[in-house]
Amino acid sequence: MECVRRAENEKICNCSYDSCPRKGICCECVAHHRSRGQLPACYFSEENEKTYDRSIENFIENYKIN
Ligand code: SF4
Repeated sequence: MECVRRAENEKICNCSYDSCPRKGICCECVAHHRSRGQLPACYFSEENEKTYDRSIENFIENYKIN
C-alpha cells in the first residue's frame, strides 16, 4: 500500500540517507529502527544524524549536548 503522506513527510524528514526505501514512510522507518533498538533520524540533531549512528546511547549523548 502506498503511503499517502509520503511526499509531505519527506519535506520535513531530516534523514540524509536519501536512498533509503523507508524515507517519508514514517511507520516503516520507526518500526525498522525500533526492531534494532534504535531511533529514527528525526530524533537527532542535523549534525549528529549524519553519523548514521541511530543508537539510543548516541541519542542520550546527543541530547545532553544539545
Ligand atoms: S531514519 Fe533510517 S529508516 Fe528512516 S529514512 Fe533514515 S535511514 Fe531510512
